[in-house]
Amino acid sequence: MPVAGELVTGLKCRLCGKLYPKEALNFCTDDFGPLEVAYDYEAVGRTFTRESIASRPKNMWRYHELLPIDGEPTVGKHVGCTPLIRADRLAKALGVAELYIKNDAVNHPSLSFKDRVVAVALSKAVELGFQTVGCASTGNLAGSVAANAAAAGLDAYVLIPDGLEQGKILGATIYGAKVIAIEGNYDHVNRLCSQIAFRYGWGFVNVNLRPFYAEGSKTMGFEIAEDLGWRAPEHVVAPMAGGSLIGKLHKAFHELDRLGLMNGPVRTKMFGAQAAGCNPISNTVKTGANKVKPVRNPDTIAKSLAIGDPADGFFASKLIRDTGGWSEDVDDEAIVEAMQLLAETEGVWAETAGGVTVAVARKLIEQGKIDRDGSTVLCITGNGLKTQEALADRLARPVVIKPTMEAFDALVESYGAFAEVGAIAAGA
Ligand SMILES: *Cc1c(COP(=O)(O)O)cnc(C)c1O
Ligand SMILES: [Zn+2]
Repeated sequence: MPVAGELVTGLKCRLCGKLYPKEALNFCTDDFGPLEVAYDYEAVGRTFTRESIASRPKNMWRYHELLPIDGEPTVGKHVGCTPLIRADRLAKALGVAELYIKNDAVNHPSLSFKDRVVAVALSKAVELGFQTVGCASTGNLAGSVAANAAAAGLDAYVLIPDGLEQGKILGATIYGAKVIAIEGNYDHVNRLCSQIAFRYGWGFVNVNLRPFYAEGSKTMGFEIAEDLGWRAPEHVVAPMAGGSLIGKLHKAFHELDRLGLMNGPVRTKMFGAQAAGCNPISNTVKTGANKVKPVRNPDTIAKSLAIGDPADGFFASKLIRDTGGWSEDVDDEAIVEAMQLLAETEGVWAETAGGVTVAVARKLIEQGKIDRDGSTVLCITGNGLKTQEALADRLARPVVIKPTMEAFDALVESYGAFAEVGAIAAGA
């Protein structure tokens, strides 16, 4: 592998463009603008070709020239390359021609898209010499930091809002991380983490390591493009929490285009999905406001998306409008229905955030905002096993019967079905 570090020129302020060295720093000291990794694309292009990428192992590091690690990755070496599924049965239900699901519900190791961002952030944390790492999490980040830190032998502190789903809490605690629930919402957790990172000198993946962390999301976009035959879809629907992922998907397509790797132009319209109970970004898009108004008390079953004051909300809403996309939000009832629709049509059990994505896609298709004839990718970012509370009282329980054929026959009759195999065997 070439030394990717030479390909990263530094960190650049998204507001004023000021350049900073590649250190654990997430905002511009002049204007508090967020910092973003800057690359030397000419140097990247020397080794980053379709052929070289195709020859590499099937994980997210096949795109390593566009990830901000100086040497070989040391954490999350097997993350990524999740399935892109052609979803014809869901397409029929939603009334569109060409639909795909990017299924990060089965990402390794912690079953969410967060493994991508954590692989980059923790590999960087190791390079920068951190032994203790942490995060402010709405659930999935907690599990991913805990799992990947455990495998790398790092000490992990994960901070979460009180009242998260059992699957998210156990899914972090099992790895031996220190899991700390804060009395308050995500914004309280995040503020506290900024203070902890500063005071203790620890590497918080989405605080002082955020510029590196955020770049990991691009790999979802690279994989979508590669699996579509180096083509960008016409529409992407992405769930939004802090608003980072949606911007990085778009950046990924345009980086590939800039490097001459795409077949045809990139004209992807970006569509953002949120829950009605926490919709700061979609509200900004819909009202045309030029500032994000924080939601003080998020209230939704889509807890993984419940960030009332999103760090990248402004840039996400601007991007959505600039690409000709749109954003919507849906209530809890619609979220659960959409989780069931996705499971029943495609055999994919997504968490509540997946329900948000599918329900919002349906709404945007009905509104005519998503063109029924274009290609559309829905980003499924987390696994249904982790948000069972959302379904527990809504799905039918198993029917209990006596262990006899009479009991089974009576049941089948009540379903209105008939015994095909038996009828054939009996020569009927
Ligand atoms: C974190 C998360 C997102 C969105 O993340 P951004 O903060 O917007 O980058 C989407 N889906 C799930 C399941 C998540 O955990
Ligand atoms: Zn600046």
